[in-house]
Amino acid sequence: MQRAAFFWEPLKLLSKKLNFFLFILKLLPFWCWHNIWGKKNTVVGARSTWARRRTANANPEREAAVIPTSVNYHFTRQCNYKCGFCFHTAKTSFVLPLEEAKRGLSLLKEAGMEKINFSGGEPFLHMRGEFVGKLVQFCKEELALPSVSIVSNGSRITEKWFQLYGKHLDILAVSCDSFDENVNVLIGRGQGKKSHIESLQRLRKWCRDYGVAFKLNSVINRFNVGENMNEQIKAINPVRWKVFQCLIIKGENSGEEALRQAERFIISDEEFNLFLERHKRISCLVPESNQKMRDSYLILDEYMRFLNCRNGRKDPSKSILDVGVENAITFSGFDEKMFLQRGGKYVWSKADLKLDW
Ligand code: SF4
Repeated sequence: MQRAAFFWEPLKLLSKKLNFFLFILKLLPFWCWHNIWGKKNTVVGARSTWARRRTANANPEREAAVIPTSVNYHFTRQCNYKCGFCFHTAKTSFVLPLEEAKRGLSLLKEAGMEKINFSGGEPFLHMRGEFVGKLVQFCKEELALPSVSIVSNGSRITEKWFQLYGKHLDILAVSCDSFDENVNVLIGRGQGKKSHIESLQRLRKWCRDYGVAFKLNSVINRFNVGENMNEQIKAINPVRWKVFQCLIIKGENSGEEALRQAERFIISDEEFNLFLERHKRISCLVPESNQKMRDSYLILDEYMRFLNCRNGRKDPSKSILDVGVENAITFSGFDEKMFLQRGGKYVWSKADLKLDW
């Protein structure tokens, strides 16, 4: 008996230890998974906190950096029209070389740009439209931006341009403030005997023919505030009709050093609201009062400097080509909340628009 006990006791002890070892082995996968997953989450959390902190340190007023989702690049200030209220006047004749403009656009894309709008001045004057055509093509083909658009007075666009570049353009916005040619002449929208309304209708047709969404921009001012445009707008059928209240910007259309004096064009908020009321049945109408308009655009000038309109004038940042987008944008004065509130983010790619060509 004693011999048997001598044999069995160590075996029992060994078996207990083995069971304990097997129990630990079963727990091991769960422990590993929990530990790795936990650590991974801690790292991700730390990284985003660090990124937020880095942004907040760079600019204590902001928790997160402004993303330049939608940018307006006014690459030229030259224009063939002389609108009395123009607030981006021909103070310089400078235009960046094409390759530099492309470099700036690439920087903006890296910073999160989704929509670019080319504006002026008149974008189709420089190199007879070839410059803006090449930029449109670059933004669509190389940068693959969801939305590429142009704002133009429409007087210099040719059918040949549509044949060459139309497929890369999502939206063409044409400025027209009145369907009465005499009013256009009073405003300064026109050139000699050329009819602004005729060129508008020609462009509407080409947009249909070449698959470009057509948008209309109107500035409501002293000379057109009483007009009823319902019938003409319905006939033209734009995807969007932007209706702006005439705006004063010091140094552009007001003040001693300005090239225009727009005071005689200004209307009150009440007058603007009456115009909107008259056209309330036009579903594509997007109104923009002075308050909505002033700080809700990211504007780049001909040197690729952001223009800050917070103080009622255009104060430039340094160029994004010199200091980068993240640095320059902190001086842009951009009001992202107002941008979203005024419907700045909309269906802006022609692939997503249900167009009635
Ligand atoms: S068409 Fe535009 S850029 Fe040219 S003068 Fe008129 S408002 Fe200014």
